[in-house]
Amino acid sequence: MPETPGDPGLEEVGPLLQQRLVRTAIPGPRSEELMARRRSAVPAGVGTTLPVFVTRAAGGIVEDVDGNRLIDFGSGISVTNVGNSAPRVRAAVAAQLERFTHLCFQVTPYLGYVEVCEALNRLTPGDHEKRSFLVNSGAEAVENAVKVARYATGRQAVVAFDHGFHGRTQLAMTLTGKAMPYKSGFGPFAPEVYRARYSDPFRGQGQLAETLGFLETTVGAANVACIVVEPIAGEGGFVVPAPGWLAGLADWCRANGALLVADEVQSGFGRTGAWYACEHEGVVPDLVTTAKSLGGGLPIGAVTGRAEIMESVHPGGLGGTFGGNPLACAAALAAIETIEADGLLERANRIGGVMTDALEALARSHQAVGDVRGRGAMVAMELVGTDGLTPDKAAAGRVAAACHAQGLLVLTAGTQGNVLRLLPSLVIPDDLLEEGLGILAGAVASDERVAE
Ligand SMILES: *Cc1c(COP(=O)(O)O)cnc(C)c1O
Repeated sequence: MPETPGDPGLEEVGPLLQQRLVRTAIPGPRSEELMARRRSAVPAGVGTTLPVFVTRAAGGIVEDVDGNRLIDFGSGISVTNVGNSAPRVRAAVAAQLERFTHLCFQVTPYLGYVEVCEALNRLTPGDHEKRSFLVNSGAEAVENAVKVARYATGRQAVVAFDHGFHGRTQLAMTLTGKAMPYKSGFGPFAPEVYRARYSDPFRGQGQLAETLGFLETTVGAANVACIVVEPIAGEGGFVVPAPGWLAGLADWCRANGALLVADEVQSGFGRTGAWYACEHEGVVPDLVTTAKSLGGGLPIGAVTGRAEIMESVHPGGLGGTFGGNPLACAAALAAIETIEADGLLERANRIGGVMTDALEALARSHQAVGDVRGRGAMVAMELVGTDGLTPDKAAAGRVAAACHAQGLLVLTAGTQGNVLRLLPSLVIPDDLLEEGLGILAGAVASDERVAE
């Protein structure tokens, strides 16, 4: 049955052993073989962080075709917050698979879609009347939030930020604030997008007064349909804005008839120890985008917003063939149940505390660690040069590579590429979390010795 050469475990059932194991070089010979196949079938434009081919994943472990078991600090970029193949998600999807796989909600509705929207209306910030609709990805959610905002306000200008990442489709790519690899060569970009400075306390950039001045002077208050902002910049390097900055944007929007769109695709859905990162700042956005972890590993995204804004659009103006696929809806409901029943918000805070303590200890003993930041289980460190400020992208790459070689999957991030970000699943066992942090600390220490 297994088609993958030498696959050690496809037919095995039962839990995946939650223990790191490095049996070969990483990537091992079987992964190298499959990478050669990949290279002749898939363009290099679709990148690879760690070229190991995976057979199974669960809890805090990813198992590869060479039999290595890696500690997973990436969660598929914060998609498997509830864990890979989480038991409730698996059961719900299997049950739905027996009933129907697709109808198209705009042709004939089904309850799962409505239930996911009800849950999002309940879980997103604010207790006002809301509506939600479902799409397939984060980029699609952002595009649709902007469509709704333009429609509801009758205005065109959209304000985004440096450090921002909003996806790879035309408008989402335009909103993204980083040329390489996301934008270079892919222009022209969508019109009426303006870019302001994101609040970056470590670098002392993007004061609220500066941001508001830009809105008033460069864009013109009466032209702004919406501000699209990540409450914590994800791909931009887990930059947490200065206290009050987000709230200041929300106040400005309210005073000027513009809408605040919180892009919570990465920061939302339990990652930061709250359902949505905006809650930490007491900010209630007009529109919220959710995706990544919403489907517990299945592809689904959503736009949630104030009822009067969402209801402004004419029938048929929103939707899509696959949006809110029945299997993805079943998975999302199971993911929500898992977070609630298993106390994963509290768990995110506990994991975050352990990660922050470990990284702050590293920062105290290693000059190369310039900043440690994040919220809940969304924690990162910035690697810098000897002046304590100059971004050191090469160091981040070396540390990540050293971790990978020892069976720890970590992701880099940052506008300057010098950030290591930690995004373990919220069901990672404590001992794997500690072991992974130990490997990371060792990698930073030995890199500093090499650099000296
Ligand atoms: C990942 C991400 C997106 C894009 O989501 P896709 O599903 O990859 O289209 C948008 N916004 C943020 C904040 C993200 O992290």
